[in-house]
Amino acid sequence: MITRIEKIDDQSIARAKQILLSGGVIGMPTETVYGLAGVGTDSNAVKEIYRVKGRPSDNPLIAHVHKDYDIKKLVEIEHQYVYKLIEKFMPGPLTLVLKSKGVVCKEAIAGGSTLAIRMPSHSGCQALLKAIDMPLVAPSANLSKHTSPVTAEHVYNDLNGRIELILDGGKCSGGIESTVLDVTESTPRILRAGLITKEMIEDLVGGCEIAKHKKDDKVLSPGVKYTHYRPKCDAMLFNDGELDKVKLAYNQAVSQGKKPYIMCTDNVAKNFEGCNLLLLGSTEEEVASNLYDKLLEGEKKADLIIAVAMPDQTGINLGIMNRLKKACG
Ligand code: AMP
Ligand code: MG
Repeated sequence: MITRIEKIDDQSIARAKQILLSGGVIGMPTETVYGLAGVGTDSNAVKEIYRVKGRPSDNPLIAHVHKDYDIKKLVEIEHQYVYKLIEKFMPGPLTLVLKSKGVVCKEAIAGGSTLAIRMPSHSGCQALLKAIDMPLVAPSANLSKHTSPVTAEHVYNDLNGRIELILDGGKCSGGIESTVLDVTESTPRILRAGLITKEMIEDLVGGCEIAKHKKDDKVLSPGVKYTHYRPKCDAMLFNDGELDKVKLAYNQAVSQGKKPYIMCTDNVAKNFEGCNLLLLGSTEEEVASNLYDKLLEGEKKADLIIAVAMPDQTGINLGIMNRLKKACG
């Protein structure tokens, strides 16, 4: 199969619609990461997503809808605070887990009773969703266990020959996957940290918990138990207070004939003059937006990525650090 990359516009959206309505899957941009999308009511399309990606079938998918879509067609909303979250953060990088009404097929929700639902804010993705006017289920458009793609080219590198079409909507601005929030109980609970933070949710609705994932916790958020986001080269992570250890690990790698790269914020980089660097930017938003891009760049040119942790684990840093820890094993 030949894989084409096409700029997202009316023409390519019409072609994408044809593929999707005949049970195919495509690469689509969102503001977080690129998705591998299929029609959520078509069980064959959903099976195709799992097959193409090599994703375990017990890990459910997120349903994406346009901003005027009535999500009550798909899920039940039991708690009033959920409307506040929808009003404030949708469209945007927030996924809500709600009781499914069974419209999206059971394969997409891994046989469970809840459906994760999101409205991407990316304008091209909105146009596609509007044109199709049905929920598109989509995991990130990478092979299972690989780093999530943030450009059409990243999708191509993983899925070339496996899908017909990748819609190119530019580099994703968000850069890490959406916050997944369970809103089936009286207090919302974060299952996966992201750009919509605990603090932002608390400010709006008065409370928010962070789920503690245990290894055998199947029901909570199956995806979290899988090792994700692994670059193809070696990677290690140090605290921001261990800069001397970073330098030591770097020099050791060099003396073994390896090519190491230090991945850190622009500010921390001042300590590593003359070293190979993967710069993440300065603000939390910049770091989130650059993280996967730099991991993917790093695995291409480095034998070893030595990452320096963010200074704290609040706000967006929590989501960044979850990904960095997984990437670095
Ligand atoms: P990905 O599509 O790779 O970004 O992963 C989606 C994430 O959302 C995974 O961690 C899933 O386990 C999680 N997820 C999807 N649907 C549900 C659901 N119904 N309940 C809980 N977590 C979900
Ligand atoms: Mg993923």
